[in-house]
Parts: sequence; structure tokens; C-alpha cells
Amino acid sequence: MRIKNIKDADIKLLEFKDYYVSEPNKYKGKWKELFKNNNPIHLEIGMGKGKFLKESAELNPNINYIGIEKSDTVLLKAARMISETKLKNIHLLSIDANNLLDYFASQEVSKIYLNFSDPWPKERHARRRLTAPSFLRKYQDVLVKDGVIELKTDNENLFNYSLDTFEKANFIIKKQSNNYDSKINNSVETEYEQKFKGENKTIYYIKVVKMTTKKRMKLYEDLVNLHGPSGDEGLVKEYLLKEYKKETDEILRDGLGSVFGVKRGKKDEPVIMIAGHMDEVGGMVTRLQENGFIKFINIGGVVPHLWVSQNVVIQTAKGKVKGVVASVPPHMGASGEVKVESLFIDVGAESKKDLEKWGIKPGDFLTFENDYYITKNKNRIVSKAWDNRFGTGMALEVFQELKNIEHPNTVICGATVQEEVGLRGAKTSSQMVEPDLFIAIDVSPVGDATPGPGDSFGKLNGGFLIRFYDPSNIMNPKMLEYVEGLAKKHKIDYQFFLSRGGTDAAVAQYAGSGCFSITIGLPGRYIHSNTSMIDVRDVEAVKAIVLEIIKDFSKERLLELKKWKYISLVKIELK
Ligand code: SAH
Repeated sequence: MRIKNIKDADIKLLEFKDYYVSEPNKYKGKWKELFKNNNPIHLEIGMGKGKFLKESAELNPNINYIGIEKSDTVLLKAARMISETKLKNIHLLSIDANNLLDYFASQEVSKIYLNFSDPWPKERHARRRLTAPSFLRKYQDVLVKDGVIELKTDNENLFNYSLDTFEKANFIIKKQSNNYDSKINNSVETEYEQKFKGENKTIYYIKVVKMTTKKRMKLYEDLVNLHGPSGDEGLVKEYLLKEYKKETDEILRDGLGSVFGVKRGKKDEPVIMIAGHMDEVGGMVTRLQENGFIKFINIGGVVPHLWVSQNVVIQTAKGKVKGVVASVPPHMGASGEVKVESLFIDVGAESKKDLEKWGIKPGDFLTFENDYYITKNKNRIVSKAWDNRFGTGMALEVFQELKNIEHPNTVICGATVQEEVGLRGAKTSSQMVEPDLFIAIDVSPVGDATPGPGDSFGKLNGGFLIRFYDPSNIMNPKMLEYVEGLAKKHKIDYQFFLSRGGTDAAVAQYAGSGCFSITIGLPGRYIHSNTSMIDVRDVEAVKAIVLEIIKDFSKERLLELKKWKYISLVKIELK
């Protein structure tokens, strides 16, 4: 239905100041203050002329309704109609849903209605559909835990498309119908719904619920709680083998213990290798002392003072033994720099004999004892081993998603061993595969809470990290442009990141005669400790970009990227 634009609709809207909010960005996180109550907020996105919103508000005085409409002309009609009521529980915003996060804070909205949204039938316009993945990531953010989205449409393609995108974005589908009748379901009919019903058109309906963080991140909870310092990754390996075998018959292992699943693509098309590293930092028992204390060394980079007074778990042949790294109390004059050599573990033993009896031996591995927990801010989670059970889990999630996406590539997803002690498993496994593109997925320390020396990069909830430089791997400029371009095109949040450390991508670049090798990073705080913190919204951004790369990649794209921007034309004369 084409509507003639009303002249100066944006100015005319200002007359309706009881309903129309002219500066909605002022109320981000404070909508309940505007409504002057604590009632739940429901949004209708693409509200049109306001029939649904008005009737819903009349029926449910204990719900705050906010209507979003990008056309001022349409919104003006809604404002005129609603201003004839005395309703106190409606506000209207002239915004594009694309910019939702500029106006709504995390978990501020209880329910979103998408009623008869534009279907954008052409595939190349799919990104504008209000259920495209980039929109769903925004809804995930603004919705409360257990938040709901209801969609009604007359368009079968939009219905099927939305079922698919909702599921992939980790919403739980509660109800779907291809013969929906609002009257029977006690729901308010929208203007378009009335019109289409009059034309005897089928009405499609979907109701989804936001998955809780607990459920969404269950895979990671399982993975981070496993014991697996570099060199002792057996438990993680077992977990991964079981999961990859559910997806494929073709499992690849290198001689050091790295594990990969293979999904074959078309002949002569690129091989993409995607890897997290399954090891974490930790320690190793070196000496059992006569007095029952245990000496240990670092496995990977742990700043020594982080050990002090931490609970640790030693994995012995006879099972787990818990203990504490001894600390000097203030009464005894603790001061100065801590060295690992001066630390010891107290597991409660009274003699070396006790230790031997409990199965503790030199060479046993230990990790921090830390339980995974979700913070009050439901998006942020603390654990000992985000670095890098995150990459381990994400490579698996991506592999599980391959059956749902179209692309010609062979994709090999998995996890390397012994990254923290010198990128060892990545070296052997990338030599084994010789991929065309290697993507390391890893957690990188961002500087928003604890800035490092010099420039700090990145923050939590800023999107995935494009690591353009680290001392052992410089991102190919074409590749950088490519990844950034894809992120922009698909509206995935990203941030540029410079690191002073390295990832598996550093050694994978040497595979064969050399390959494209990049790191897609997850922002992390306090890594290499027992209390690192990540944000689930960044997890979604990492997943989205890796899937977009796979979908876009092909032999053609590879050749295009290999044409370097700068080619040296100077020929070297050999004597
Ligand atoms: N919900 C109403 C109107 C449906 S028509 C009903 O069921 O009767 C879809 C409306 O969505 C149009 O008015 C269009 O301007 C609006 N719209 C489409 N994309 C939008 C976006 N990205 N942000 C805000 N509004 C949008």
C-alpha cells in the first residue's frame, strides 16, 4: 500500500508531545521513567498506523507499549488516531529498527511484535527483513531473559525464512501456525491482518522465546569446566571426539593430539581450517616435600602473584585432589614480588607419604579451581578457561551449523593442543592439512578494564576482534579489507585489535608454501587467570562473521584475494 508523503510530517509530529518522543536516545535504559511505572515494555516494530498498538494498550493498561515506525507520514497518522484516546501507556518513536541499540538498553524490553513486516522478496534484499540475523542479534540484546517475539505475516517466504533465522539465532520456537486466527487466540488484529483476512489470505504466525544465557552457553560451560592444561588435554579431546563424530565420519588427528572434523566441499574448491586451542594455562607438580607441601611450575603464562591463595585442582592418576596455593598473611609480613619458585600447594597432607598415598606424582597437571558463573548482567560470564575453550566450542558450533549453509568449500573445524606453550598443535595440524585459509578463534585481552602499556584496544560488547597486527602474524591487507567488508555488509559489530602476543595463526601461516592465516578474536578481560570474563553478545558476533566468511568463500574469492594490492615489478638479477 503506497501512501503519499505528508509534507513536514516530522514537524507535525511534534504537536503530539504526549505520545511522540522526539529525542528517543535520551531514554535509553530509562523508558520506565518516562512511563512513570515499572510495567513491562512491549515494542511493535513497523507499527504502521497504530491500530494494533492502540487496541493492545486499551486491553492491557499494565503494559507499556512503544511503537516504532520509520515512516513519519505513517507515524503521524498513528499519532493523530492515538491522541484521540486518553491512553497513558503508549509512546511513539520515529526510528529505523536498524538503530534499535541506540535507543534501548540491554534487557529493557519484554516483548517484540513484528506484524506484517515488509517481506523484501528478493534474496539480495534479505538483509532488510526484520528477521534477518543482524536484527535478531539486536532483539536478543534488548529483550529480557525469557523475552518473547511474536510475528504475523501473510508472506509464506518470510514465514519460512524467519523460522530458520530464529532457530539459528538461538531463539526457542514456542508456536508456529500457517492458519492463524487472532480472534481465536485472543490477540488484537492489526490493520494489515484485517485487510488480508478480508481477501481470504492465509495468516502465518510464529512465537519465539529468548534462550536463557545458561542454556545458550551450555556447551561452553561444559568445556571450560574440564581440566586441560597444555600437554594434558585428554578430557577435552574425548569430549570433542564424541561431538564431532555426531556430525561426520571423517575425523582428523595430528600426532600431538589435535582433533578436527571434516566436511568435504566441491573438488578444487578451497580448504578452510578453523581452530580454537583446547589447552588452558595451568601448572605442573614438580616435587613432593617431606612436610607434605607440593612445589610446582607454570604451564603457559601465568603471572605468579595470580596463584597466591587460589584454590587449585591436581589431576592425578587416582582422581582429583583439591588444594590451595599458600599465601603469607599480613601478620607475617608479606611483601615484595612473588616468584613461582617460592610458592607451594597445600592439599592438607601431613607428610610426603600422604601425598603418595593420594596418588600425587611429579608430572601431574593442575589448574585453577573456578566455577563458571553468569554475572548479574546476564550477558557476562566468568570462568578460568575462556582462553580458549571459547574457540574450541565455537569451532564446534560452526561445524554443527555447516549443514544449514550453502558454500563450496571443504571446512575443517577443531581444536589444537599446546598453544599456550608455543603453538605446538597448530604447527603440526596446519602442516597436515595445508589449508588455503586458516582461522584461529581465540580470546584476546582487551584494554577496557585493565589497559596495558601504550595503546589499548577493544572492549567487551564491542563485537569480534579483527587482529590486524601481532608480533608474529600481520594480517594480509586484502584479507583485512575482506573481513571488514563482510562485517559491514552483514552488520556484525567488530573492532580493530592489536596484540603483543600471538595465536595459532602465527604458525599456521607457514603451512605448505604459506597460506592466509587470520585470528578472529573474542574480547576477554583478565585472561590467564582463574577469573576471565567475556560477553555473550561478542560470542554471537564471532559466530556470525565466521559463518559469513565460509558462506562467501570460494576458489574465485581466493584467487581474487591472492592478487596482491602491491606487486613488486623489480626483477632481481642473480649473479
Ligand atoms: N504493523 C502494521 C503495519 C505493517 S506495514 C500492521 O500490521 O498493520 C510495515 C511497516 O513497517 C511499514 O509502515 C514500514 O514503514 C515499517 N518498517 C519497515 N521496516 C522498518 C524498519 N527497519 N524500522 C522501522 N519501521 C519499519
